Amino acid sequence: MSALLQADEASALLAAAIRGELPDARGRFGPFGGRYVPETLVPAFERLEAGVREHLHDASFQAEFRKELHEWVGRPTALTYAPRLSESWGADVWLKREDLAHTGAHKINNAIGQAILAKRLGAKRVIAETGAGQHGVASAAACARVGLPCSVYMGAVDMQRQAPNVDRMLRLGAEVVAVESGDKTLRAAIDEALRTWVTDPEGIYYLLGSAVGAHPYPYLVRELQSVIGEEARQQMIDLAGGLPDVAFACVGGGSNAIGLFYPLLGDDIELIGVEAGGTGNGLGQNAATLATGTPGVLQGSYTIILQDDDGQVQETHSISAGLDYSGVGPEHALLQATGRVKYISATDDEALEALEELCASEGILTALETSHAFAAAKEYAKKHPGKRILIGNSGRGDKDMPTLTQYPARTRSHAGA
Ligand SMILES: *Cc1c(COP(=O)(O)O)cnc(C)c1O
Repeated sequence: MSALLQADEASALLAAAIRGELPDARGRFGPFGGRYVPETLVPAFERLEAGVREHLHDASFQAEFRKELHEWVGRPTALTYAPRLSESWGADVWLKREDLAHTGAHKINNAIGQAILAKRLGAKRVIAETGAGQHGVASAAACARVGLPCSVYMGAVDMQRQAPNVDRMLRLGAEVVAVESGDKTLRAAIDEALRTWVTDPEGIYYLLGSAVGAHPYPYLVRELQSVIGEEARQQMIDLAGGLPDVAFACVGGGSNAIGLFYPLLGDDIELIGVEAGGTGNGLGQNAATLATGTPGVLQGSYTIILQDDDGQVQETHSISAGLDYSGVGPEHALLQATGRVKYISATDDEALEALEELCASEGILTALETSHAFAAAKEYAKKHPGKRILIGNSGRGDKDMPTLTQYPARTRSHAGA
């Protein structure tokens, strides 16, 4: 992918990224990002962009956001040393515990930030899309917290697969709208949410769940999620005796990864994003977008996507619903093209194995998404002994129990042997 940029272009763009100058005024991260939307959506995006410019870095918005992060989300989340994992891997392993955030993952940082913004923009109600339901739950909770009605658009197929999350959203006071069109999963849900947004761009706020889509979402979500890396950076200095040599995060749309990486871009730290390698390298067997994809436009953004030779977006597979996405945020596309961040993948089996190891050795049931980062970190530790490793522990795995019970627990079986 580095062929996408000349070497001097790449280093100039990386320097601009580190100085905090990206995206540019057109919402571009070098060649990536921007806003490729139908004419009907332009006024809604322009209104949102103006609102973000006015409020996001305003002192009173920031004060309310930080207060909610502290009192309601439970931040700062802990930085946890992993002694048994460190010993077994021959490394010094530290975990940034987003699993301890309210509702069990990093998604709440973005949801509460955008819910506060919606209120300040005078929205009467919020809409959101969801695939597996995790962003729907975070949005429902955040909207309840700020007192705005929330409608979550969810594909009819996903509603069946993720019934417990539908119930959680309803109990948190949201309406769940079944989307029967298209593929009846996440992509159709996003299209339906956008169609609804254009009917009333002043009354409706669209709360998008990852660092993807048209400008200003990739920027807005990065700014709200950067609290992860800001805290982790300081905590490493205070508790671990210094910055890590390397940091890992899993990448679906890329919001927890950009939240961890962005504040570390200017440091001498190797950064590695881990995508879903699924069951193999074949078409439709994985969601390793950056590792195997090509440039194209998906949902309003020019980025790297999984598509066939005719530009048809490919189906993806991952054991973790949160990584099962055929695109990725445009800032990651740039960070890969500049060489600053390396993107690799871990398979379903490797993720499952890592989940079990972390669970049994540190007493932390991590999410299947996050387990991909652990699997990659373990491989890295084998090749580079003695490194100080930071892992973004994006969420907890309680939601994955229905999937996990399909696999025998290795740890339990040898305890009885
Ligand atoms: C949704 C989710 C992800 C993937 O989303 P990103 O936007 O790539 O962060 C990762 N981990 C957990 C626990 C999630 O719920």
